[in-house]
Amino acid sequence: MDKNLKPATIAAHAAGALDAQSGGVVPALQPSTTFTRDADYNLDRPDNVYSRDNSDNLRQAEEVLRSLEDAAETLLFPSGMAAIAAVFRTLPNRGTAILQSGIYWGTTAWIRDFCARREITLVEVPASELVATCQNTPADLVFIETPSNPWLETVDIQAVNNATSGVVIVDGTAATPILTRALDHGADIVMHSATKAINGHSDVLAGVLSTRAPEAAIWGEIKADRKMAGAILGPFEAWLLIRAMRTLPLRVERMSQNTQKLAEALLAHPQVADVFYPGLPHHSGHDIAKRQMQGGYGSLMSVLVKGGREDALRVVGKLQLFLRATSLGGVESLVEHRHTIEPHTGIPENLIRVSVGIEDAGDLIADWKQALA
Ligand code: PLP
Repeated sequence: MDKNLKPATIAAHAAGALDAQSGGVVPALQPSTTFTRDADYNLDRPDNVYSRDNSDNLRQAEEVLRSLEDAAETLLFPSGMAAIAAVFRTLPNRGTAILQSGIYWGTTAWIRDFCARREITLVEVPASELVATCQNTPADLVFIETPSNPWLETVDIQAVNNATSGVVIVDGTAATPILTRALDHGADIVMHSATKAINGHSDVLAGVLSTRAPEAAIWGEIKADRKMAGAILGPFEAWLLIRAMRTLPLRVERMSQNTQKLAEALLAHPQVADVFYPGLPHHSGHDIAKRQMQGGYGSLMSVLVKGGREDALRVVGKLQLFLRATSLGGVESLVEHRHTIEPHTGIPENLIRVSVGIEDAGDLIADWKQALA
């Protein structure tokens, strides 16, 4: 498609994916694992050999994401964690990595374990200290999550990039490529859990990496590792993703509007101690978010209710529209009492993480008001 088209157009048209064979405006689902050769042993389709290498649906889904990121190349993985693991597996033994602290616990836990096994020096620092640490610590790789889950801290990607000679990887899951194109801000590789808002319907597990420097050694290693070690997304998941991404810009716009309204309403509520959301001017992440996010601040926020664990759990229990379930970025609103999931990481017992969906904002605010009463 034309390079100048806007994200809403790219997404609605699935970056031009059609079904040439039937004339369908929707690409066909092709689940075959293997592809034929002619009598001279030439592949009938030179790009299709075996579906651990690639497949039509995977390429189509990757093309949508590549266009949205304005990247040179994009690779899909069977989960966000598989995408993160693919990046870290390129690190040399006894190398050095800088990791933002206070990010998604699953990422931290896996990276700590991996680095310990490979004798990689892991330097964990809060968002506010990343730039200074990068200036003082030569590292092979720097891993950032902005906005972070569940604190909604933000990181100036360009400042980190200027401060390090290492490869800068940005987990932009909470921002999506619609609100922040991390590559525009100097990231070497942008990663998303596509399980979240990119798919948005809570029915596909996927992860994605994109780059503007496919010639870089690290990208070659990631590509080779995906193919050889088999961390590939299946065609059905890729097909579902293509379908879901047609409405990604619409969903992100609506979810960001809803979240902003709910965040403002909750901040003004007498039973709420604080709200962490980059769209709120008092939040520590607001200034960077204002520069780095366009069109909204996303659908993830955290709420500190007044009181302790019992008070938070009572509110969570009384909510009717916000389903009590982990994850984020879906069309249906969710809440999670994070302390129950990660009691050892310093998450306050009165913190409720909220993922806001596309429902009516008034209904969502009314639900919280009755739960807080
Ligand atoms: N990054 C962030 C910010 C997440 O919230 C998650 C999952 O919750 C992941 C990465 C991991 O993604 P997945 O669950 O698709 O493996």
